[in-house]
Amino acid sequence: MVLDGRKYLKLLASYRPVAQKCPYCGTSTLSASGRPSFCNFCEQFAGVQAGASSPFEAIKAQLDANSTEAALKSADQLMKGNMDPEQLYLLGVFYLNLSTIEFQSKDYNQMGFMEPNADNIRASLDLTMKWKECFFKVIRIVGGELQGNIQVDPTMVLMKFMSEIRLQRYVDAATTLRTLQSLDKRGTYSEYALLVYSVEKDTKQAQASLLAALGSGEMNAYYYLAKYLAKQGKLKEAESLLSTLSTSVEVSMSRELLYRIRLTEEASKM
Ligand SMILES: [Zn+2]
Repeated sequence: MVLDGRKYLKLLASYRPVAQKCPYCGTSTLSASGRPSFCNFCEQFAGVQAGASSPFEAIKAQLDANSTEAALKSADQLMKGNMDPEQLYLLGVFYLNLSTIEFQSKDYNQMGFMEPNADNIRASLDLTMKWKECFFKVIRIVGGELQGNIQVDPTMVLMKFMSEIRLQRYVDAATTLRTLQSLDKRGTYSEYALLVYSVEKDTKQAQASLLAALGSGEMNAYYYLAKYLAKQGKLKEAESLLSTLSTSVEVSMSRELLYRIRLTEEASKM
């Protein structure tokens, strides 16, 4: 059976998603079913009780208000000497997002000419170093705890896993996925991680994981469906899905994927 992008495009357009506040990053994240789902920005499970307000929320609010400079300043401040894996993970997602925005702002209109804007490229490289550093720290910190403490929180392990995925350390990610599967008896976290892994690595599991996640109304699954379709060479279907998705939800990795799809399409025209 093949996943039909057009069918899911119709389903996506018919949704009236319900907003919920992510307890980690403070984003107003959308769920198609109204049931708790994974945050569109930080990809953590939003259906948990919010603890004390996270220092990251203020940074995300600045980013949402387009005060990028201010957000960047606050983020740099928060990153200094920070050894809290949750904060470092959120900062990693933040810098990763910003690096994509910076890199793309070199010029959408002149995309065919590939005239790089040196300032934006430099800013983007600087941000890339920062997101990599954040994710590497998450891996080291959570990894150290894992050795000494079996009762580690699935949330932390998911953050480590997502950090490994973003750094394309797939062998490590596979090991972390197995740890998560043994820790997370209810399967909420490990099923999401399995979806991410199988789509990123294009394994046989991808279809089954996508069907389950799409069936439960997980909005982020539409991003992974688009990625899956793009890997199958169905660029047009992937592009339509991402465009439709972006009218209701801002899934953080969507922008980068859409950009790469358009670049590929552009290149094939030349
Ligand atoms: Zn979040």
